[in-house]
Amino acid sequence: MTTITVPENVSVLLLDIEGTTTPITFVKDVLFPYIREHLEEYLSAHWEEDECKQDVQLLKKQTEEDLKQNRACPVHAVDQTVHTDEEKAIREVVDGVLWQMAADRKTTALKQLQGHMWRAAYLFDGHFDTNIGAKVESKSYEKIAERIGCAPEDMMFLTDVTREAKAAEDAGLNVALVVRPGNIELTEEERNHYRTLTTFNQLELTRSI
Ligand SMILES: [Mg+2]
Repeated sequence: MTTITVPENVSVLLLDIEGTTTPITFVKDVLFPYIREHLEEYLSAHWEEDECKQDVQLLKKQTEEDLKQNRACPVHAVDQTVHTDEEKAIREVVDGVLWQMAADRKTTALKQLQGHMWRAAYLFDGHFDTNIGAKVESKSYEKIAERIGCAPEDMMFLTDVTREAKAAEDAGLNVALVVRPGNIELTEEERNHYRTLTTFNQLELTRSI
């Protein structure tokens, strides 16, 4: 197994999720069902917290936007088991989120809440969504570096998508491409240009990260 030595100055590993930390199917088979199963419980537990309030606010704005543009919207069923205003509000958010997921929407509102739920469940330290910018734009990586307080050259970005690797590389980050089942096949040129790995075990750390 070939190894990739992470340069000694690198103190931050920045990871894409889909196709990088796991095969793309993991998101569909594990992460999305997790959201569906734990959404109501998560909202109840975090309802009064600022982050959760902001997530809910963004989801409401998204629904208003959808209504304005005459997009289909979730229908709230009357539920006799719901009593308090909070329970009713939570149930409406749940309906909206499940509806967006079923429609395979990629809205920032949806991704932000999902990111927060996965962070709580899977212990990621920090999470960046499309609020920071698109993954194929260099600026996004500059902003992430600034937010973390780390020089771009002291970071290493792992992703399955060449355009994302190129953007991070342009921003000055170290990059490597992750090859997992179901990912888009790399061209020979891409293979020659980028270091590739099929498992994180191939990363050789020279310091603790
Ligand atoms: Mg990906």
